[in-house]
Amino acid sequence: MPPASAAESRPPPAAEKALPGRRIGRVEYVSLAAAAPRLGCRLVWREPGRRLELIGADGRAEIETESREITVNGLRIFLGDPVVASEGDALVSRVDHERCLLPLLRPGHGQAARPAPRVIVLDPGHGGSDPGKINERLGINEKTLTLDVARRVKRLLEADGLRVLLTRDDDSFVALPQRAAAARAAKADVFVSLHFNAVPRDTRTSGVEVYTFAPRFQRSTNAWGPGAKDDTEDYASPGNRHDHWNVVLAHALHRRFVDDLKSDDRGKKLMHLAVLRPLDCPGVLVECGFLSSEAEARKIATPAHRQRIAVAVAAGIRDYAAVLGRVR
Ligand SMILES: [Zn+2]
Repeated sequence: MPPASAAESRPPPAAEKALPGRRIGRVEYVSLAAAAPRLGCRLVWREPGRRLELIGADGRAEIETESREITVNGLRIFLGDPVVASEGDALVSRVDHERCLLPLLRPGHGQAARPAPRVIVLDPGHGGSDPGKINERLGINEKTLTLDVARRVKRLLEADGLRVLLTRDDDSFVALPQRAAAARAAKADVFVSLHFNAVPRDTRTSGVEVYTFAPRFQRSTNAWGPGAKDDTEDYASPGNRHDHWNVVLAHALHRRFVDDLKSDDRGKKLMHLAVLRPLDCPGVLVECGFLSSEAEARKIATPAHRQRIAVAVAAGIRDYAAVLGRVR
């Protein structure tokens, strides 16, 4: 047998031992006190048993027990499962610890380094026979606005030397799985689906929502409401291979909408979205604003505001690339 080289004889880096879990109902929980060091954070109780903070070099999370809603670096984030108070500690689901808190508070930890993004695929929502959301009074529809914003983002990112493709570049209908297939064919490094929101008979709700594909064992954020069907999946989809980076990408885009566009923060949410499910690169869906909102729709109807949206999206993608660079 040939002598092992120095590299071969070195033991592999010790894998982190899994935190002990505790099952409550269908969900496996871990102690936040035990998880905090893995998150690179210290845990500080602000109100014993009720409110706590995780404070680390890369971020700060404000957490309340019995809630799914937390704040990370000032942004509203929905966990997949509520945090539970337990004998002076707080428990967080293992999936939330690994696939939400870790990417937010310690991006890249435990992940293979990813090369700098070179190919960006932008997905203008809807098209053709599917207009998406409509504001009849202003005569605007989602499919036209998403294409306009995508073209603007494309111009901005191409100026950076990136290769940028659109899943549609005209008013045609493209099925959701085909959009992900286009990203795969292009060997995309980043996928961003662009949409606009609306609520029926509500002219006030406005702001941004950023979605990632729900991790295995978690349900969609909107599947918690009264009467909603639990849509938890106990199998992983291709899009789940990138749960970590999906969240990093989402956080970067979320930050730009809230900071630069001053969008109302409707939160980073989870959903089993067909357009994200088959992806084989990190991807998110951004609901860029509400066409049903009197005030916001009037802004979105102007090219100047759509340019600001495009600048925010491009900046978010650049910020994500910068995080990847730091991790490398
Ligand atoms: Zn849409």
